[in-house]
Amino acid sequence: MQLANRLLTLAAIAVPAVFVSAVRGDIPAEERHLSLYHTHTREHIDVVYKRDNAYVSRALVQLDRFLRDSLTGDVHHYDPHLFDVLFDLTRASGRPDGEIQVICGYRSPRINEFLRTHTFGVAKESLHMQAEAIDIRLPGVKTSSLRDAALALRRGGVGYYPASDFIHVDVGRVRRW
Ligand SMILES: [Zn+2]
Repeated sequence: MQLANRLLTLAAIAVPAVFVSAVRGDIPAEERHLSLYHTHTREHIDVVYKRDNAYVSRALVQLDRFLRDSLTGDVHHYDPHLFDVLFDLTRASGRPDGEIQVICGYRSPRINEFLRTHTFGVAKESLHMQAEAIDIRLPGVKTSSLRDAALALRRGGVGYYPASDFIHVDVGRVRRW
């Protein structure tokens, strides 16, 4: 009896927590990760942003910084629901481990105003300024297919820019252009 107790104590120390939880029959932690490459800053990020249905705050801070305005360096807190959209898009496109290319994340008001007056297709009240929008493409997936997958999710706005080969997704109203 005493020996058995000692062995149990030893086992508790030696056996990794993951194994213990598996033996207890717990459901393993669900981890959602995102892999992104920013075409302007040329940075890569690969983070678990959600674990057991809870956002990982440290990862959100990293993603906010990664998605900063690449011209001014301004950082804005992103709506994490947009990360769920990106995660589901990689799944829906058959590329769960694919690295998403980011063309534009957060855009500060002054940069948005500059682009709006000097280029075509930039909205005055762009959701990029609320950190609720992102422009992306996914290598290995036709951008028109990525657009269709985003439309099917029905989680916000979807814009298609074939000339520049990217789509815009946001977590605003469900709409398309
Ligand atoms: Zn956009």
